Order: sequence, then structure tokens, then C-alpha cells
Amino acid sequence: MAAANPAESLRDEASCSICLDYFIDPVTIDCGHNFCRSCITQTWERSETDFPCPQCRKTFQQKNLRPNRQLANMVEIAKKLSECSVRLKEENLCEKHEEKLKLFCEDDQRAICVVCDRSRDHRSHTVTPIEEAVQEYKEKLKIHLETLRKDLEDLLKFKSTEEKKAEELKSETEIRRQKAEYEFAELHQLLDKEKQIFLLSLEEEEKKILQRMRENMTQLEQQSFALKQLISEIEEKSQQPANELLKDVKDALSRWQKMKFLEQEVVSTDLKMGLELSYPQQLKTLITKFRGQATFMNGLSPPIKNMFENPVIDRPTKIKAKENQEKQRNEDQKHRLLNEPNHLLETRGRKRERKRGRYSQERARPLGPRRLAINVDRLDTLNMIAFTAFAILDLWVPLSVLNPSLLLLC
Ligand SMILES: [Zn+2]
Ligand SMILES: [Zn+2]
Ligand SMILES: [Zn+2]
Ligand SMILES: [Zn+2]
Repeated sequence: MAAANPAESLRDEASCSICLDYFIDPVTIDCGHNFCRSCITQTWERSETDFPCPQCRKTFQQKNLRPNRQLANMVEIAKKLSECSVRLKEENLCEKHEEKLKLFCEDDQRAICVVCDRSRDHRSHTVTPIEEAVQEYKEKLKIHLETLRKDLEDLLKFKSTEEKKAEELKSETEIRRQKAEYEFAELHQLLDKEKQIFLLSLEEEEKKILQRMRENMTQLEQQSFALKQLISEIEEKSQQPANELLKDVKDALSRWQKMKFLEQEVVSTDLKMGLELSYPQQLKTLITKFRGQATFMNGLSPPIKNMFENPVIDRPTKIKAKENQEKQRNEDQKHRLLNEPNHLLETRGRKRERKRGRYSQERARPLGPRRLAINVDRLDTLNMIAFTAFAILDLWVPLSVLNPSLLLLC
């Protein structure tokens, strides 16, 4: 391949294509290509009939090697030229003028000597002392290097931030998952308890009604017994002979007519507990409806919406304390989630919640008015659901007892 500058071209032309070094005792074969005598002899050693040219692959029947003395002389000149060029380069001299390369041509981007500088070739070029050029380029390289180092630093920082984010996401997801488990378990328990209370109340009501019916039955039996006695007494009287019958008959009749029997009581079997059966269904509807927090406020019925807009808690004065408490609580929870087995977690978590009064409402009185505590700092989606449940249980049921038509607002 042709080299870029004449010195290199000359070196290529004076080199053997087998050993890639300057020809030693060059010989020409029939195709005209040249090789060192030893190189071509060694290459053809293995064959006895066909002798191919290593360069053009043309095959000959005979080994025909002609010494090339002209090429041998040219090789010697090329060697000397190369040695000279190496020396000039080592001494940092101009190959053309053998002067020190003290200047730098900005346009040609190479070092030149003072004589080059005076030549026509460089007349219109920007030429600076070589030290200045070095200094200038060093500065430029330094600046670029700094930029690259800064880029690398930023990149590594970004990479580690992204890695950290992935880790944080993982632990945050885990915390939320545990929290969801906990909150929903709490909700399940709450609903189970409400169900038990409802079933118990229903049973009690049934018992009370049955008791009243039994009492009524006893009274009815007593009355029917008294009536039967009276009937047989009067029948007996009416069977008596005339003088016996007429004796005191007027007084007896008046006495019998004055006898009063209690009016029969109708015991109502209407169950009052039926009304409450509507709220598990409503709770289900609301939880499904408010699954996305964005639609939560829009979907609220006026009384509950009002509870959100005017929370019981005095937020501005207590907000700082609440935030600290919340922060501490999150830390506690995180620590708990990381360190405690699940079965311990629930019990302790609930105890703590109870201490803080979040679930302090008295659950044993389903119809009684209860104070509603809203923790406004924790109104995330899960709490929305939990709160909705509390809202219905705490507010809706008592309200609907007062005015059943409120249920239609849902
Ligand atoms: Zn060779
Ligand atoms: Zn050839
Ligand atoms: Zn020069
Ligand atoms: Zn120049």
C-alpha cells in the first residue's frame, strides 16, 4: 500500500513483502516481483514442481532467480535516508533545512523552522513560537479535560442516584405493601366486629320480642281461663231451679257485667335492626368509588365532604407537632417493618395506634353518636378507604337513623 509521505513510500518500495524488512540480496523472479534471496528460497523449499509468486500468485515451473543489483543499491540509499531522517527527528531539526523546529504553523498544524517561516508556503500562515503553541494547546486540553472529568463525575453521580432511587422504590413499595396488609387487616377486623355487633343486636331484638310474646301468651291464657270460669258459673246459674235462679240474680248479673278484661295486646314482630343492613353494601360501593384519591372529594356526600373541609383537628396550631409525630411514626414503622416478624408487627402496631387514639372510638355502640377523629396528615388512598369506612360507621348510620332519606344521597 502506498504510504502517505515520500520517505515512507521509499521505505515500502525498498522492503521485501515476505519479511517486511529492507531487501537483503534482492532477486527478481519471472513475474518481475522482488524478494530477498533467502526469503523466496525458503518459501519455495517445500515445493518441487510448482513455484508461485508470493505477491501475485502466478505459478512457475522453474526456480528462476535473477539478482537485482540496482534495487540493492537503492535499498542502501533508502536505509541512509531513513537513518538521516531519524537523526533529524531525534534532534528536532527541520528535515528540509536542518534547522531547529522552533515555530508552529497553526494552518498546517506542524512544527517548522525559521527558514520554513520565511518561505512562500507559510507566508500568509499564523505562526507562533513552539512553546507558546504548546502552552496554548495545553490550556485548551486542560479545559476540555476538566469538562470531561466533570461530565464523568455528573454521570457517575446520576448513576448512583438512579441506583439509590431503585433501592428506595423497592423499600418504599415494601413498606406500602406491609401497610396495606395492616390497614386492610384492620378493616377486616373492624367489619367483622361490626358484623358481630349487628348479629348480636339482631339476636337480642329477636329474644326481646319473643319474651314479650311469651308474656302476652301467659296473660291471654290467664284471661281465657278466667273467662271460661265465668262462662261456666253463668251457665250453672242459668240451669238452677226458678227460686234458686232468681235469688240474688240481679246483683250477680250486675257484678258479672262489671267484670273487666284487659284489652288484647298486639306484639309487633317488626325488626328495627333491618335498617343497618344497608351499610355494608354502601361501604362496598364507596370503597370501589373512592379507589382513586382524585375523585374522592367530588364523590363525597355533603355531610362527609363537610367533615373533610372543616376537620375536627385544629390543623394550623397542631401541624408542627403532628408532622413530627408522623415523621417519628414513619421511622418507627420502617424500623418495625425491617426488624420484626409479621405476627408481632400487627399486635404492636395496633397497640401503638390505639395509644395515639386513631382507633379509639368506642365500637360497642353501633347506633350511639361517636366523636370522629380525622388525621388530616395521613389522608392517602388507604386512609381514604379506612376513613370512608369510619365515616359511614360513625356518621352515616346515626344520621340515617334520624333521617332515612339521607341514605338516598349516597
Ligand atoms: Zn525478505
Ligand atoms: Zn509476482
Ligand atoms: Zn525548515
Ligand atoms: Zn504553514
